[in-house]
Amino acid sequence: MKNNKPVSSYFGENTFDIKKLLKNTPKKIHSNLQNAINQGEKILPETSDAVAIALRKWAVSKGCTHYTHWFQPMTGYTAEKHDSFIDYDGNGGVIEKFTGKQLTQGEPDASSFPSGGIRATFEARGYTIWDPTSPAFIIEYPHGNTLCIPTVFVSYTGETLDRKAPLLRSIQVLNNAALEILKIFNHPAKKVFSTLGVEQEYFLIDRNYYKQRPDLIQTGRTLFGKMPEKHQQLEDQYFANIPERAFAFMSEIEEESYKLGIPLKTRHNEVAPNQFEFAPIYEDVNIAIDHNQILMDLMERIAKRHNLTVLLHEKPFAGINGSGKHANWSISTDTGENLLFPGNTPESNLQFLVFLISTIKAVYNNSKLLRASVASCSNDYRLGANEAPPAIISIFLGETLSKVLSDLGAGKVTKTKDQSWISFGIDKIPEISKDSTDRNRTSPFAFTGNKFEFRAVGSSATPSTSITILNSIIANSLLETNAQIKSEVKKSKDLNKAIVRVLRKIYNETKSILFEGDNYSASWEKVALKRGLPNLKTAPDALKALIEKKSIKLLENLKIFNPREVESRFEVDMENYCKNVDIEAKVSVDMSLTMFYPAGIKYLNDLLSTLTLLKNNSSSSLNFMIKDLSKKLDDCFTEIKNLEKMLKSAHSIKDTFKRGKYFESIKVQCLKLRITVDNLETIIPNNLWPVPKYKELLLNL
Ligand code: ADP
Ligand code: MG
Repeated sequence: MKNNKPVSSYFGENTFDIKKLLKNTPKKIHSNLQNAINQGEKILPETSDAVAIALRKWAVSKGCTHYTHWFQPMTGYTAEKHDSFIDYDGNGGVIEKFTGKQLTQGEPDASSFPSGGIRATFEARGYTIWDPTSPAFIIEYPHGNTLCIPTVFVSYTGETLDRKAPLLRSIQVLNNAALEILKIFNHPAKKVFSTLGVEQEYFLIDRNYYKQRPDLIQTGRTLFGKMPEKHQQLEDQYFANIPERAFAFMSEIEEESYKLGIPLKTRHNEVAPNQFEFAPIYEDVNIAIDHNQILMDLMERIAKRHNLTVLLHEKPFAGINGSGKHANWSISTDTGENLLFPGNTPESNLQFLVFLISTIKAVYNNSKLLRASVASCSNDYRLGANEAPPAIISIFLGETLSKVLSDLGAGKVTKTKDQSWISFGIDKIPEISKDSTDRNRTSPFAFTGNKFEFRAVGSSATPSTSITILNSIIANSLLETNAQIKSEVKKSKDLNKAIVRVLRKIYNETKSILFEGDNYSASWEKVALKRGLPNLKTAPDALKALIEKKSIKLLENLKIFNPREVESRFEVDMENYCKNVDIEAKVSVDMSLTMFYPAGIKYLNDLLSTLTLLKNNSSSSLNFMIKDLSKKLDDCFTEIKNLEKMLKSAHSIKDTFKRGKYFESIKVQCLKLRITVDNLETIIPNNLWPVPKYKELLLNL
C-alpha cells in the first residue's frame, strides 16, 4: 500500500539509537555508555541494567513480546533465538522483565553452528555478547514483533565463532593504526573508523516459476537452462523503467528499511533482465554491515508477499550477468574528515597520500588474502566471467592520481595539462583535483574519487568477511608506513621530505598492483602473470591463502585471529564450498535422471510411435530426429553416470584442501552434464520440458 508520509517522519522508528538511549536512561550511566560505544570501554552492570529497562519499555510499547540476541554465525546468515519477556511476578501472574544480564550475554547451544573444529562437542557452550555499537532494532512480522539485539558470538574459550567479532577487532585495529599516522600531522581526531556503502544487486522472479525449479529452491541458482533468444543483448534493461511488480516490492522494502534506520538511497534496473539494485547512503562500517544483513533478510521475506522470489545468488543464470555487492569503503575521522579525500592544500594532500599509498601497499602485499575473503562456491561462477572483476586483484586509480603517483615515484617535477596540480619536487606536494576521468568498471578495486570500491564481493555474502580483511591489511600497512616515517625522520629532520621519501619507496615497490586497463581482456591475464600478481581462479585455491604463514602471522600480530581461529575459518569456508558443490551435484543428478532424461524418453517414444504409423518408416526428418535425440540422451546419461561415480569417492578424501580441489573437479563435471541437458532443451517440445525455461523466468515481470 502506498504510504504518503515523509520518510523523515518515521525514519529509524524501529531502532533504538544512541539518541533514544541517552534520552531514556539516567544521566549517571551516560559517560560509561558513550565511552563503551566510542572507545570500547567495558560496560558497567548498572549501565546494562538501565539500558535493558529502557529497551524493554520501548520494545513492549511497540508490540514486542519477545527479544533475541541477533548474531552472525559462520553460516553467512543471521541467527536468532527468541525469548519472551515474561517472568513470574511472584503472585501467580507474569510481568515483562528484561535484565542487564539478559541484554549483555546469551548462551545459545553452539554445537549446531559451524566452528571449524574450535568447539569440541563435549564443550558446546557458546556466548552471544551485546555489541553496543550497533543499535537494537525491532523486526515486525504480521503476527508479532521481536526486539533484536546485535551481538557477537564467541566460544567458551573466547574464540570467535561469527563474522562480527573479527570485524569489531579490525575496526579497533584500524582506528589505532590510523590515529598513529594522524599524530604525525598533528591531526585533532580522537577516533578513526571505516565507512561503507554496499550496492546490493539481486534478481526477482515469479514465485510460481521458482517453485517448479528444484535447482533454484535447493541451490539458489539454475543448474540447467538454455539462454533465451532475447536476453541482455539489446542493452535495454539497465536503468530502464522499473516494472510495477518490482516497484511494489521495492517500495515495501524501502518503507521497512527506513523504519529500521537503513538509509536506502538508490534503486534501479540492472544490466540483466529481472536484475535490480539497492544502494544505501554509506554509514559506519559495523552498522552498514548489520544493515546489509537485515536488508537481505527483509528482501527474501517481503518478496514472498508479492509472490516473487528474490535471488541473491551471484550467478543465478548462466550466460547472463551475475550479481555483486560493490563495497564502497573509506576511512573517516570523528572530526568529519574523509581520509581518502584528496585535499585542497599540500599538507592535507600529503596526509591523503600516506593513506592512499599505504592502501596500495596493503593490497599489493595481501592480494591473495583479499581474494580469499570473497571466495565461495557461488562467487566462483561470477568472478572472471567477463562482467565481474577477474580473480586477479589489481587497483585502478584514474588518470590524475596515476600521474601524481608516477611522478612521485620518479621524483619528477612536471606539470599537467589542466594545471590542477603542480610539481612534485622532493619538498613540494601537489594539489590534487578530484578525478574527472571515466570510471573503470572492470577493476576489482577501484579508487572512485574519495573512496575505494571493492567489486569482487559476492551478492549473497556478508560484507563482513572482506571488510575485516580490508581493515586489517590496511591497518597493518599504516603501522609499517608509520614506522618507516619515524625512522626516516631521524635521518633528515625535515618531516615532509622524510614522508615523501618513504612514500616514493613504497610506491616504487608496490606499483605493479596498479592497472588502469581493461580487466576483462585476455591480455591482462598475461601481463598480470608477468608482474607476478596472483590469479586464483577458484575458491579452494583462494582460500588456501588464508592459512599461508604470512597471513596467519599478520592476523595474529594484529590480534584479529589467533592461528586456531584462522585454521577454523579455512575449514568452515572450504567445508561450505564442498557442501555447496555436493548439493549442486546431487540436484543435478536428480533433476537429470528424474526430469530431463525422462522428458527425452517421452519425446523419443512419441517420435518412434509416429514413425511406425508411416509407410516403410520413410520419414528422413523423423529418422534424423530419432538419431539425434538418442545421441543426446546417451550423452546426458553418460555424464550423469560420470558425475555419480565422482560423487561416490568424494567423501573418502580427508585432507581439507584436497577435498576442495576434488569438489572443484566435480563442479566441472556438473557443467559437462549441464551442457548435455541444455542440448536436449534445444529439441524437446516445449510442452514436454519439465521446468520453466529461462525465457519464462526472466522475461515476465
Ligand atoms: P556509483 O556511481 O558507483 O553508484 P555513488 O557515488 O553513487 O557511486 O556511491 C555508491 C555507494 O558509495 C553509495 O552507497 C555511497 O553512499 C557510497 N559512498 C559514497 N561515499 C562514501 C564514503 N566516503 N565511504 C563509503 N562509501 C561511500
Ligand atoms: Mg558503484
